[in-house]
Amino acid sequence: MKKIAILGSTGSIGTQTLDIVRERGDIEVTALAAGRNIDLLERQIREFQPNQVAVWSERDAHELKIKIADLSVKVHFGMDGLLEVATDADSEILVTAIVGMIGLKPTVAAIQSGKNIALANKETLVTAGHLIMPMAKEYNVSILPVDSEHSAIFQALNGEREHNQIDKILLTASGGPFRGKTKDELKSVTLQDALKHPNWSMGKKITVDSSTLVNKGLEVMEAKWLFDVSPEQIQVVVQPQSVIHSMVQFEDGSVIAQLGTPDMRLPIQYALYYPKRKPLGGDRLDFAKLGSISFEDPDTDTFRGLALAYDAMKRGGNMPTIFNAANEAAVALFLEEKIRYLQITEIIEACMNHCTYVDAPDLNQILDTEQEVRQWVESRCEIEYCSSNHII
Ligand code: NDP
Repeated sequence: MKKIAILGSTGSIGTQTLDIVRERGDIEVTALAAGRNIDLLERQIREFQPNQVAVWSERDAHELKIKIADLSVKVHFGMDGLLEVATDADSEILVTAIVGMIGLKPTVAAIQSGKNIALANKETLVTAGHLIMPMAKEYNVSILPVDSEHSAIFQALNGEREHNQIDKILLTASGGPFRGKTKDELKSVTLQDALKHPNWSMGKKITVDSSTLVNKGLEVMEAKWLFDVSPEQIQVVVQPQSVIHSMVQFEDGSVIAQLGTPDMRLPIQYALYYPKRKPLGGDRLDFAKLGSISFEDPDTDTFRGLALAYDAMKRGGNMPTIFNAANEAAVALFLEEKIRYLQITEIIEACMNHCTYVDAPDLNQILDTEQEVRQWVESRCEIEYCSSNHII
């Protein structure tokens, strides 16, 4: 039996991870952490019988304890709770399916406890890749990508890394729901429009990030750390059908791609069983039906999020943290319908221009940067972005 713990078990990646556990029958779930969805967490506890769980607030922890009073499951809360789950003594792999920078500290703690990481939480490498990758090496743990693009690259690199150099990584993007739209047309898009991804069903934050191409920017930064390449070696290619999940070009010009239907269970399962492949149900690609696969360059003038991500990556230091934290704060405001769509990238750019630059940030400086960005966005929100004539 493989033993896993999951941060973010009630979300899109978390529930799909548990679908795999249910389907395969050879994985034991030792610990789960969720945010506020304690009804679903209770059902997960009853079905998968972990030893310990965590929720975010003390109140929810109290309510959950009452709901599961018939079971001997430990219930924690807050950051201490996430740390308990991340370092659970019985687990071998931690699935980081929690959204946002809140995943950073627990991931660090898990690595330091010798857990392999099935990494969905891209914010971890975006903000602290320079700390996480050497730490994983020091503690001899694997960082196994769950993001479909990074899993595709990881699969394309199988058996290659020892002998061959990567020429470049071709990171594919669907282009999101607004591909082809002009900046003028984007002025009037609504939250509901942004939440309609053409190919993937995901959590709200990443769905909005996909529409702004900020998600692709975060993925470029994640790829840089995971595969030890320079920003110049990563090219984003729009492939609207989401059939090619990414490609690697080698020095001889050969390109290896990984293809499949858009189904996150595949990269999750690949990370859990790596290097083995296991049977997985679901649709298969039908190339005759598909007919053609098309490619285009991303429109970085209209979708500034990707251009800003490259800028943040090249400036280095805590700039990717500023980029990421500003995006988290702006998307939260957009999800509350307090700002307009185009203001998301405006806020990111403003934070990159105003927040304090730190050259080689340690973990505390990364977390301080996050606080500074959040406070900056909050203060500007009152006087500028969220003023009554800006609210949708
Ligand atoms: P969801 O919004 O669907 O799920 C987020 C999970 O995090 C939920 O279980 C939520 O709990 C939990 N959570 C949020 N805040 C807290 C908190 N303070 N304490 C404890 N738990 C918390 O997100 P996704 O599953 O879509 O994404 C998760 C991560 O994976 C993100 O980093 C995303 O970028 C990445 N990713 C996602 C993909 C996808 O297909 N969805 C693809 C590739 C990467 P609750 O709901 O109970 O509040």
